[in-house]
Amino acid sequence: MPLDAMIDKAMRLLKAGRVERLSYNQFNVIGDHGTYNVVRNREGKINCSCPGFQSRGRCSHSTAVLIMSGQSRRR
Ligand SMILES: [Zn+2]
Repeated sequence: MPLDAMIDKAMRLLKAGRVERLSYNQFNVIGDHGTYNVVRNREGKINCSCPGFQSRGRCSHSTAVLIMSGQSRRR
């Protein structure tokens, strides 16, 4: 998936309220094909449980979490 399309999809997930913050570094993202766990480690690295992240190292869910945590940091 091109980066722009992934950011678009991430924004869509955020606007639809499909990113749920469980704790400081843990999120549930309700994707189109299932609900995934997104976790951020101490170094700020993101990990997602979806197959796309396992094979490509990035996905719309983890991007959505990055956007969300970036926003909360600026507030
Ligand atoms: Zn994912």
